[in-house]
Amino acid sequence: MDIPFKIDLAGKTVVITGGAGVLGTSFAAALGACGARIAVLDLDRQAADRVVAGLSADGVEAIAVTANVLERESLAAAADRVAAAFGPCDLLVNGAGGNHPKGTTTKEVLEAADLDDPALLTFFDLDPASVGFVFNLNFLGTLLPTQAFARQMIGRPGSSIVNVSSMNAFRPLTKIPAYSGAKAAVSNFTQWLAVHFAGVGIRVNAIAPGFFVTNQNRGMLIGADGELTERARKIVAHTPMGRFGEADELIGALLFLASEKASGFVNGVVLPVDGGFSAYSGV
Ligand code: NAD
Repeated sequence: MDIPFKIDLAGKTVVITGGAGVLGTSFAAALGACGARIAVLDLDRQAADRVVAGLSADGVEAIAVTANVLERESLAAAADRVAAAFGPCDLLVNGAGGNHPKGTTTKEVLEAADLDDPALLTFFDLDPASVGFVFNLNFLGTLLPTQAFARQMIGRPGSSIVNVSSMNAFRPLTKIPAYSGAKAAVSNFTQWLAVHFAGVGIRVNAIAPGFFVTNQNRGMLIGADGELTERARKIVAHTPMGRFGEADELIGALLFLASEKASGFVNGVVLPVDGGFSAYSGV
C-alpha cells in the first residue's frame, strides 16, 4: 500500500474492530505497512479472512478474529486469542459501526400530510429496537472492545486508542437521528476516556471521516442507475473540496494519531477528515 509517511510500529500489536470493512481494510494495510502485527476483528469471518490473506501476501503478520463488538464474552475470547498470537494490544482502532435503514426517516423535514402516508417512515415510526441497534453498535461497540483490550495496554508505553466518529457528531445529519446521536456519543466518549486513561498512559483520540462511499452508505449515495442520489449531490455541494473522500485519505490522520512520536501530547481530539464539510455553514 502507498502510505503518505511511515511510522515505526515494529513489534506492536494492533487490533482493528470492523477490520474487514472498507475503511478497516485500508487501516489494516497502512498499519501493517508500518510493521505492526494486525488482528482483523470482525463479525464477518469470510471477509476478515480475505483481508488477512491480502495482508499476508504483502508480508504483514495478521490474524482474523471473529468477534461481536456487542458481546463481552466474545470480546474476552478475542482478547485472549490476540494476546496468545501476538502479545498484548498496543493500539486499538474501534472501527466497527454503522447505521440501519430502520433508524432512518424517509424525509428530511416532516410535513403534516406525511402522517397519513403509509409509504413513509416518519420520526413517529422509528422503532426502539432499530434505534437501539444503531446506538449499541456505535457506542457500546466502542466501549466494550475498549474494556476488552485497554486492560492489556496499561503499563505499555505508547499505547493508544483511535475511535471512529463521523460528521454527524458535530451537527446531526438529516434522516439519521440514531446514527447521529450514536456518533455524538462516540466523540463524547473519546474525550471522557482520554481523561480517564490519562493516568495509565493510554491516549484516546478519534477520526471523524467526512463522506466516503462504503458498504454501509452506498445505498443512500448511489442510485440503482449508478448516478449520485439527490442526497449525495447535496453532500458534494456542501463539501468545499467538491468531492467524496477516498478511504486512503484517512491514513495520514490515523498514522499521526497512532504515532507516539508524532502525537504523544495529543489526547482527546476528534479530527475531521472531511474536505472542509464541517467548516462550511452552507453559505
Ligand atoms: P463497512 O460497513 O464497510 O465496515 C463495517 C465493518 O464492521 C464490517 O466489516 C462489519 O462486518 C463489521 N461489523 C458490523 N457489526 C459488527 C459487530 N457487531 N461486531 C464486529 N464487527 C462488526 O463500513 P465503513 O464505512 O468501513 O465504516 C467503518 C467505520 O467508519 C464505522 O464506524 C462507520 O460508522 C464509520 N464512518 C464511515 C463513514 C463513511 O463515509 N463510510 C463516514 C463516517 C464514519
